[in-house]
Amino acid sequence: MTARNQLPIVVVGAGSAGIVVASRLAEDPTNSVLLLESGSGLGGSSLRNYMVGMTGMHDDFEWERDFGCAGWNWDTARKTFNAMPDLLQDVQPSEAGQVDSALVEAADRAGVPRIARLARDAHSGQGAGYCSLTRSNGVRHSVLETYFNPVRSQSNFAARVNAVVDSVVMDGVRAVGVRLSNGEHIEARGVVVCAGAIATPVLLRRSNITRPGVGIGLRDHPSIAITLALKQPQHSTIRIGANVRTSSQKGYADIHVLSLNETDELGKFGALIAGVMHVHSRGEVKYDSATGMGEPMFNSLSDERDLEAMRDAVRYVYELAISQPISGIADAILSDANGTSAHWIGTASDREIDDWALRQVGAYSHAAGSCAMGSSRDEMAVVNERAEVIGHQNLWLCDASILPTLPRANTHLPVVMVANRVTAMLRETLG
Ligand SMILES: Cc1cc2nc3c(=O)[nH]c(=O)nc-3n(C[C@H](O)[C@H](O)[C@H](O)COP(=O)(O)OP(=O)(O)OC[C@H]3O[C@@H](n4cnc5c(N)ncnc54)[C@H](O)[C@@H]3O)c2cc1C
Repeated sequence: MTARNQLPIVVVGAGSAGIVVASRLAEDPTNSVLLLESGSGLGGSSLRNYMVGMTGMHDDFEWERDFGCAGWNWDTARKTFNAMPDLLQDVQPSEAGQVDSALVEAADRAGVPRIARLARDAHSGQGAGYCSLTRSNGVRHSVLETYFNPVRSQSNFAARVNAVVDSVVMDGVRAVGVRLSNGEHIEARGVVVCAGAIATPVLLRRSNITRPGVGIGLRDHPSIAITLALKQPQHSTIRIGANVRTSSQKGYADIHVLSLNETDELGKFGALIAGVMHVHSRGEVKYDSATGMGEPMFNSLSDERDLEAMRDAVRYVYELAISQPISGIADAILSDANGTSAHWIGTASDREIDDWALRQVGAYSHAAGSCAMGSSRDEMAVVNERAEVIGHQNLWLCDASILPTLPRANTHLPVVMVANRVTAMLRETLG
């Protein structure tokens, strides 16, 4: 069968979402699909992420109720998660690193219920368990193996790397192609931008798409580390293998603690990472029209609610860290890279913890929300519930940028879920 239209649908960015979108569009042999990737390699962040697979809490996906995105709710999200071919393998106690095992045991002793499939439990406010990882037979199983490889050699599908897209070419409000940074112009039947939460808004701005919400609303899960100077240096094949979920005084299931088995090449240090998962602080991708570049500003912990949740998270992770299972594997627990003992946290005031958290806070690499989905009547929404850029034609966005809220989960699987749903809608539209 030949492609219905010789002009391709161009998919920009071959990351977690772009691979799904391009591959699933190409499953229909009447669609001609061209996937363009700038140079990170096919797979994008899914090639280098820590493989933790999590779906998030049911309430994180009520986008129809919370943002007016018709058809987006936990029921549709759950069905899509369940139908996804992505492979998840639970970390087995026998392969877990020493920090993983110590964290699970510390949580057990603290009375946290053990939940076998915590990563896929969308309801419990508290629980502990080993992580599920996106892998097969112990090896990373990214979106390449799951989605791309089955269709990569089809004649209606082409993928190019080192193809940096400068901008979308518009004819009025209609997308008609893309321009590469080397000046090449590619005509398209439609364009799906999947360049990720930082690059997508920049690409839109360079294309003179100036909806007020472009770049606004960027967020990430703020995180903080308590470093463990390990008694026995280790090299673990599992990077992060255990997770504890709990609730702050003001939130529900809004704190995660993850075990990082090694933080240095010699395997002398591990860490417990505390993350605030229900995020209120908002940042933006600042666009500089003189250079055509953008810079992410997360404004982590700028909202008082996030700072309060982080305070609870810090005290919680400290209590776990000084309990026997963890102190038993660590010569020292440290609150910074200069080797400061973390024991000051035990008696610290709220203010002292806040000051430290504001200095030490890092990101979780879960950037999202910079071109949020919403109702067409919401002027800050960038795409509607079909992922079409509002007020434009033949132009869609599909990646972490369109999440209107950050789920209480690591973001790869939620992004893949969104990509599966958006592609089903795109196939309807194109068909
Ligand atoms: C170090 C790290 C660890 C992580 N660990 C986990 C984890 O354990 N579990 C989890 O669930 N999530 C994790 N994440 C987050 C998760 O991987 C991301 O949320 C998810 O991959 C985002 O998918 P995306 O499609 O939005 O963007 P990406 O996967 O980043 O894809 C965007 C793609 O677009 C390309 N691109 C950008 N600009 C252009 C352009 N102008 N032209 C052409 N191509 C372009 C990029 O090169 C990239 O390949 C991690 C992320 C990182 C960075």
